[in-house]
Amino acid sequence: MEDNYRHKGLRRNLLAQLRLKGIKNEDVLAAMESVPRHFFMSSAFLKFAYEDQAFPIGSDQTISQPYTVAFQSSILDIVPGMKILEIGTGSGYQTSVLVKLGAKVFSVERQRALFLKTDNLLTKMGVKAQRFYGDGYKGKSAFAPYDRVLVTCGAPNIPAELLKQLKVGGKLVIPVGEGDTQQMLRFTKHSETDFSREEFGAFSFVPMLQDREMKK
Ligand code: SAH
Repeated sequence: MEDNYRHKGLRRNLLAQLRLKGIKNEDVLAAMESVPRHFFMSSAFLKFAYEDQAFPIGSDQTISQPYTVAFQSSILDIVPGMKILEIGTGSGYQTSVLVKLGAKVFSVERQRALFLKTDNLLTKMGVKAQRFYGDGYKGKSAFAPYDRVLVTCGAPNIPAELLKQLKVGGKLVIPVGEGDTQQMLRFTKHSETDFSREEFGAFSFVPMLQDREMKK
């Protein structure tokens, strides 16, 4: 795994594009500048690693578009030391960006092959995030409550467990909707029963699958 001047140059160009598209959070931009996105994709696709687009990573899944990673990371309002639950580890790219932002990350992936592949990669890269194979609808109660919960797949509804596992004052960022596009939503937990909801526009994600569709 090599991260040379050419990769770094491509990454700077990508960051310039993200700035032009409206990403302003300097901590997020710095974190993305330091994570080599090409490590998370097959080396055959190097030239796509620094395009602002989602890309197939096997097991019918995609690595999220850089703009989407930047956007979700920004609206999470992360402070170093926060505990974050991520649903949908996928390639591990977003996980690595969260770790760079100083978060303690707990990430859940439901596809076994992808979970194993990414677990291996993150170990090699020395990314200190806890990884779990399981169903994100259930969250990860053993380590709850969380300051933030991030869902990186399109959810048909708001999983009640994820709201429950948030701290009071915590935030859930989740793209919601079936079909090709989802609405990016952010919930803030004011008390065990009181939540506020904000909308951030349309995005496109692979679907969050139910337990019964879990691939072994
Ligand atoms: N954050 C990832 C995006 C991966 S795409 C990245 O940066 O690469 C979304 C991921 O969510 C896929 O890997 C998919 O397998 C996973 N997923 C779908 N439904 C899930 C569920 N119920 N629980 C956990 N993960 C799920």
